[in-house]
Amino acid sequence: MDASPIHDIFVIGGGINGCGIARDAVGRGFSVYLAEMNDLASGTSSGSTKLIHGGLRYLEFYEFRLVREALMEREVLWKNAPHIIWPMRFVLPYAKGLRPAWLIRLGLFLYDHIGGRKLLPAGSVAMSSVPAGKPLKPLFRKAFEYSDGWVNDARLVALNARDAADRGAVIRTRTKVVSARRESGLWTIKIQNVLTGEIEEVRARLLVNAAGPWVDQVLAKTVGQNDVHNVRLVQGSHMVIGKKFDDPRAYFFQNKDGRIIFAIPYEEEFTLIGTTDRDFPGDPHEVKISDTEIDYLCAAASEYFAQPVKRSDIVWTYSAVRPLYDDGASKAQEATRDYVLKADGGEGAAPLLNAFGGKITTFRRLAESMLEKIEGFLGKRGKPWTANAPLPGGDFPATGFDEQVSRLKNAYPFLDQRLARRLTRLYGTRAEKLLGLAKSNADLGRNFGADLYEAEVRYLVENEWAITAEDVLWRRTKRGLHFSREQTAALEEFMRGLSSRHVAAAE
Ligand code: FAD
Repeated sequence: MDASPIHDIFVIGGGINGCGIARDAVGRGFSVYLAEMNDLASGTSSGSTKLIHGGLRYLEFYEFRLVREALMEREVLWKNAPHIIWPMRFVLPYAKGLRPAWLIRLGLFLYDHIGGRKLLPAGSVAMSSVPAGKPLKPLFRKAFEYSDGWVNDARLVALNARDAADRGAVIRTRTKVVSARRESGLWTIKIQNVLTGEIEEVRARLLVNAAGPWVDQVLAKTVGQNDVHNVRLVQGSHMVIGKKFDDPRAYFFQNKDGRIIFAIPYEEEFTLIGTTDRDFPGDPHEVKISDTEIDYLCAAASEYFAQPVKRSDIVWTYSAVRPLYDDGASKAQEATRDYVLKADGGEGAAPLLNAFGGKITTFRRLAESMLEKIEGFLGKRGKPWTANAPLPGGDFPATGFDEQVSRLKNAYPFLDQRLARRLTRLYGTRAEKLLGLAKSNADLGRNFGADLYEAEVRYLVENEWAITAEDVLWRRTKRGLHFSREQTAALEEFMRGLSSRHVAAAE
């Protein structure tokens, strides 16, 4: 007899959907085990455009259910995580010969009226001259404006995982699910620690496949199903360039091919430009921006900005793969962005639930729908609860970010304004846990560069499953944008020493 404990739910995948499901489930009283083969958010969930949005463009594809649900989520998520999510205004310059003004007006009217907007300012359905027009070519002096939200996507994942673990879930990173088989009404799941090669077996009543772009691979190779073809993999790339404009608003540019791109203020000193849409045939691990995508984004942005965007302006790029539910659309940009949940098993066979597609914006609703299905198999445990439950560090008023920065500065007067803001943006009220009893910058330990102190690195290793320099520099923070090669190597060396002691400590 196997004496290992039986978990109610085993979740494959530590992206936003897996972590959101794990958090909701453990909060309702289920025992949960989650395995992520790489780092949290190392898949699609750190490579998004980072918008908490209804998706103005999806209205053109009649995705009213998705747009309405996503619009309603904007304020729910903002209130629960005001450190990493905040409102953003978007300027949509009117471009002659592209979408007619009446169509944009109609879209903005619907956007404002179907989504339960209370705190976000309304859009302007009348075109007006805007100071945000300054960096644009003189041709674009009239624009529409509307509200959506911004999210630090990778941190949203880490905070869901942190909260799930605080409530009792087991969260394992660098742990690959290598096989899952049904045995005596349960799942026996073989997991491998990818750092040590060690293999373990875990048993669970129900298996959730939230492997994002790997969802079909898990079905085919891990679960052993035949003829698997549920998702269409669509690559999207972004480039980061030096700041192109000072305005806090973002731009929504229409392109002649019917697509759109965004130019968004990013990390104080940069502008983020994206995204592209092209079918992706390869292994999602290998995705990276192509020359054609760089040319496309430079050309599309240069149509609008007075100063052209050049290859030499690029500071960083990132790419990710959308795991879109395959609805047979002919063009990548037309495939549905909605999620689809499918169950398999029951009546004696241990259930498997698969999540296909979805948006960062709708992860919480996807988790609620998944829980409804889970409870159909395992019985009801608790009510939906995540709509009014702040994520770690998000327990301050949605409109109180500046006050929260002041509070931190009062408690730690040695912090300069920039660092106090950065720490509040990343950690919210938990910045105090990170800073502990520090009375000066020297008490924060070694400065690895760009004000990334040892105290922050240790906090991320001990509380947020960070193991490598890349986890810290590119997912938990974006300090990588400011780091030299030598600084990265020094951090890597420091972390190698730390991580062996802390791999399990974050659980
Ligand atoms: P992932 O984040 O990929 O997570 C799946 C995880 O499963 C991975 O980390 C992977 O390592 C793990 N895994 C796979 N196989 C195994 C295994 N065998 N064992 C253990 N672990 C495994 N949404 C928005 O709301 N707003 C946006 O602005 C937005 N912009 C986007 C822009 C682009 C270019 C892209 C690509 C997507 C965008 N999205 C946006 C969509 C959103 O990013 C995705 O829907 C979401 O991140 C998918 O999350 P996920 O958890 O399903 O997948």
